[in-house]
Amino acid sequence: MRFTYDSYYSLLLLIKESGYEFANFDDWEGKKQCVVLRHDIDYDISKAVEMAEIEKNEDVKSTYFLLVSSGLYNIHSKESRKKIRHIIDCGHSIGLHFDEGAYTTEEYREGILNKILCEASILENAIGQSINIVSMHRPSREILEKNLKIPGMINAYDNTFFKKFKYISDSRRNWRESVEEIITSGKYERLQILTHAFWYMEEEKNLHDTIKDFIGSANIQRYGIYKDNFTNLESVVKFEEIADEGQC
Ligand SMILES: [Zn+2]
Repeated sequence: MRFTYDSYYSLLLLIKESGYEFANFDDWEGKKQCVVLRHDIDYDISKAVEMAEIEKNEDVKSTYFLLVSSGLYNIHSKESRKKIRHIIDCGHSIGLHFDEGAYTTEEYREGILNKILCEASILENAIGQSINIVSMHRPSREILEKNLKIPGMINAYDNTFFKKFKYISDSRRNWRESVEEIITSGKYERLQILTHAFWYMEEEKNLHDTIKDFIGSANIQRYGIYKDNFTNLESVVKFEEIADEGQC
């Protein structure tokens, strides 16, 4: 599968043609043959918006998981909240993407359940709706083996979603197995498909260029944010100076 929007469209069509229904993490039970689509937003909410629109056009519902502890985006910023609202308006669900790595060993030991519930509540406040599902960002073996039961929340890493589902993911921009073959094989009643919108674009780029271009565009984004917070920024640092540096 190519990492383009067209390929993602084709993937959605293939899922439908292969007789699967789309389901969410909280309504799959009772569905005979279903696919749960999951998107972890590790770096960039804008890319998730693109994916959300593609799915909306195909009348497909999925779940987008947001980090509260990201160093790359801020769920409380006006821009982020607008994008998250857009994803919700496309008919999708929002979950918490929890990064245990954001905590010290001491904090971790104090109680990981409380950290998850606390982050869920922060996300709830930011987006104005309740959060009842969590997925883990780069989970350790320890957290996976715990098979955490979180009061009032569904854990996307609960054994259920691995034992009763075939799980496939494009982590590190690499499908370890052919997602198309798995869908068409008819071998699995239920699939959990994790994609990261970050890897997909109009024209495919390789892993190196995808990451390099993203990092390279940061100064342009920062310039825009600075401009909103510093009167007459142009008189001090011109946009052209930044744009030139940002070219990849
Ligand atoms: Zn992640």
